[in-house]
Amino acid sequence: MKKKISLLMCLVLIFSAFTGCDINFNGITPTTEGSTTAAVEAAVTEKASTAQAATAATATITMTTTTTTTAATTTTTTATKPTTTKKTTTKAPTTMPTTKVPEKIEKPDTDRIKDDDKVIALTFDDGPSKYTARLLDILEENGAHATFFVLGNRAKNNSELLKRMLDEGHEIGSHTWDHTSFAKLSYNSALENMNKATNAIKKASGKKPVLVRPPYGAMSDSLKYAATMQGQAIITWSVDPRDWDTKNPDTVYNKIMSNVSDGDIILCHDIHKSTVDAMERVIPDLLDEGYTLVTVSELLTYERDELTAGKVYSKRKN
Ligand SMILES: [Zn+2]
Repeated sequence: MKKKISLLMCLVLIFSAFTGCDINFNGITPTTEGSTTAAVEAAVTEKASTAQAATAATATITMTTTTTTTAATTTTTTATKPTTTKKTTTKAPTTMPTTKVPEKIEKPDTDRIKDDDKVIALTFDDGPSKYTARLLDILEENGAHATFFVLGNRAKNNSELLKRMLDEGHEIGSHTWDHTSFAKLSYNSALENMNKATNAIKKASGKKPVLVRPPYGAMSDSLKYAATMQGQAIITWSVDPRDWDTKNPDTVYNKIMSNVSDGDIILCHDIHKSTVDAMERVIPDLLDEGYTLVTVSELLTYERDELTAGKVYSKRKN
């Protein structure tokens, strides 16, 4: 009996030397056939052959090795995954990429401004909305024109309204995809957001916008970069009646009428009923005061040859 045990132990040790595995006679889990020692003892007790006992030991060793390998693989995967993916997607360049020369934006082909005209560009952001059609009616009744800075994510389902705007001589600019502030966006995110909006507006209206108004008027290098890449001039404003804040037609009317002068760009929002209500009086009264209401591109290019993509404009002469 002792001879048999010694022989079996020798076999196991030789096997260990050949495979390079560490045999732990105590540390193998019971579910995998028990410990090697137990396997050996069982083999001896049941008078199993040396070969059978060796096979049992081998099976235990193999399972241990596999478990170790799997654990090692899992550890490697979880340790390396976050660092590699995060580094490549969030890293933004520290200086503005110069991959494109700012392009010139052609003048509009309309000729609605006469030499002595006082001009104003009414602009409406954040739409279109359920009030936009009524605003278009008011503009049409008065022979006035305006610029709509629409959100890309609202363009898709408002194709008819957008086409009507262009048919009736208004201008459509981009107000980005989803009104995100561009103040802290990376170059890649800014370009992606703006490109998505440009494509949605072009698809819904049939024309690519050449103007962009940044949400909140927030400026950044990434905004200028993305606008340059998109071939869009950046448009802010010179009169802000804060219509989104007061939501009172009389206040909006008074703030516009008391602050407006030749060459102004007025900031309004066609998502508020109160703003459209105010326009019932603002538009005819501005006309009575001798202003011609034109689009932003018309107003800005009247005394310029063309606009430059990525450059900021806030009124007729700036
Ligand atoms: Zn806005």
